[in-house]
Amino acid sequence: EAKASGRGRYMFFREEMDAGVRHRREIEADLRDALDAGDQLRIEYQPLYAAQSGQIIGAEALLRWQHPVRGMMSPATFVPIAEACGLINGIGTWVLERACADAVRLRLPSISVNVSAVQLRDEELAEEILGILKRTRLEPSRLEIEITETSFIESASACQATLVRLRAAGVRIALDDFGTGYSSFSHLRNFEVDRIKIDQSFVNGIDMRRGGSAIIRAIVDLAKASGMQITAEGVETDEQRDFLADAGCTSLQGYLLSRPLSPAAIAALLYRNPAIELRRAAMQ
Ligand code: C2E
Ligand code: MG
Ligand code: MG
Ligand code: MG
Repeated sequence: EAKASGRGRYMFFREEMDAGVRHRREIEADLRDALDAGDQLRIEYQPLYAAQSGQIIGAEALLRWQHPVRGMMSPATFVPIAEACGLINGIGTWVLERACADAVRLRLPSISVNVSAVQLRDEELAEEILGILKRTRLEPSRLEIEITETSFIESASACQATLVRLRAAGVRIALDDFGTGYSSFSHLRNFEVDRIKIDQSFVNGIDMRRGGSAIIRAIVDLAKASGMQITAEGVETDEQRDFLADAGCTSLQGYLLSRPLSPAAIAALLYRNPAIELRRAAMQ
């Protein structure tokens, strides 16, 4: 009888199981297959432009998943699931290795890779990244890792050693989605980072009839005073670009300048970029 009621309860939970949970389990299983299949995951590269010269200074690696049935899935949907089920470590390693190899192959001046809070908690992460740099022969100074402000704050003490080790080797650290976490300003003073990326919600909020954006001006001034680079994300209009460049952002990223591109497309874009051509000529 106990067995029967246990089973009954099980059936009850199964039937009542939230559609969200079922969806998650499905995605999780499909993601495991995707890692094995090898041809569903790929990376697009979105260029970062120097705000003053307009030169391409590097690119951000953005993960793409072509799901066999659901079609293109956003990382905003599947990365949190991969984080929850532990798959993010394998996926993150794959992204790092591929992005570093592509940076060398495509001669990207610099490559930015998003690293999840879950990856940061892995004590082996720094050694793993340094191993990838050796294998791919990418100079450490050409790699930047992007950590969201929230994950940085939450795991600050746990990941401190990792970040110190990476920075000592020359790898740069960027705080992504800056301004969306709490106590943003106090954390700018306490931690050593090389760049902040102003979240696109602030860029969206720029209103030239109200003098642009006081918060962006304040963020830029403080970051500048701390010797940091400042990238604005999600730049979509000429007006936003002009305000951000004028406010002192050092680099800009957004659909106005370029969408995320396939490896072949960013290689072609770099090849056409005269500023990058000059740099190459000078290096020879
Ligand atoms: P993020 O790192 O803040 O990346 C910026 C996101 O804004 C990207 O979305 C990019 O395609 C999008 N974007 C760029 N310019 C514009 C614009 O002008 N307008 C608008 N509306 N959007 C723009 P995406 O590629 O969908 O990635 C979403 C998030 O997923 C990323 O936000 C990042 O947090 C995460 N992610 C992407 N790839 C990886 C990865 O390899 N590992 C990890 N852990 N997370 C990743
Ligand atoms: Mg990012
Ligand atoms: Mg961001
Ligand atoms: Mg984001």
